[in-house]
Amino acid sequence: MGLRRVALAAGAALVLAGSGACTEAVGRPSIADATRLVIGVKADQPGLGLRTEDGDFAGFDVDVALYIAEELGVPRSGVEFVGVTSQEREDVLIDGDVDLVLATYSITQLRKTVVAFGGPYYVARQDILVRAGDTTVRSVADLEGKLLCQGAGSNSANRVIEERGVDAVRIERPSYSDCIDLLAEGEVDAVSTDDLILAGYLEAAPESFHLVNAPFTSEKYGVGIAKEDIAGCEAVNRAITRMYQDGTAAWLLRKWFGDSGLDVNTSVPQFEGCT
Ligand code: GLU
Repeated sequence: MGLRRVALAAGAALVLAGSGACTEAVGRPSIADATRLVIGVKADQPGLGLRTEDGDFAGFDVDVALYIAEELGVPRSGVEFVGVTSQEREDVLIDGDVDLVLATYSITQLRKTVVAFGGPYYVARQDILVRAGDTTVRSVADLEGKLLCQGAGSNSANRVIEERGVDAVRIERPSYSDCIDLLAEGEVDAVSTDDLILAGYLEAAPESFHLVNAPFTSEKYGVGIAKEDIAGCEAVNRAITRMYQDGTAAWLLRKWFGDSGLDVNTSVPQFEGCT
């Protein structure tokens, strides 16, 4: 992420409208007052955000997005989904191309300098996928010297190389589905990212891959919102709270990951706070 983005966000002006009941960025109303919403989701991650043959989107992130939209007063007919890559997530929010991003988007300190995050609505864990039959990788330390693929704009390789000091060779492709293709073809040794993402690819081709099952991070999935929209962020947090209270979150986790073998956590995550 460039300094330009950080400077842009730092310079974003807040206009407090009227009695302060409603917060508005210059020229951009809060999503708390929206009648339509454009929402960025992944287009190539089965179980999370996947563009279907009819051009629609399906997955856990998509269903969570629809629940939040409805809680904000926007019905299904008022929601438009657009596919975003990891690399595009900040830009589309900052530029106002989308109102929300629900795209396996981990809350990080660096990202919080340019966008706001509601949630997290789920806490995933980073794990490792290798080819079926590969017994050389049993933990993150075994990625030393291995060709490790990540989707551009993702934080997953940092978690291995910078944070854990494991000297893997970083290979980048536009998205995780490209990495999965490289893994299947033997062009890379491993794909390490969130367990929910890896479980989705594994379920699509169980004979090709092996999930190492050695989780080593907490990936707090946030709802990306324009940085200045605090009222919108708080409204999103109320929606997520309700989603856990009324049983929808547990139901959606079972719906999308019930057969994955993952031990999904159905208790409400601790929120980060909007400011
Ligand atoms: N959740 C991680 C991240 O936001 C990896 C997956 C992704 O890039 O979508 O960096």
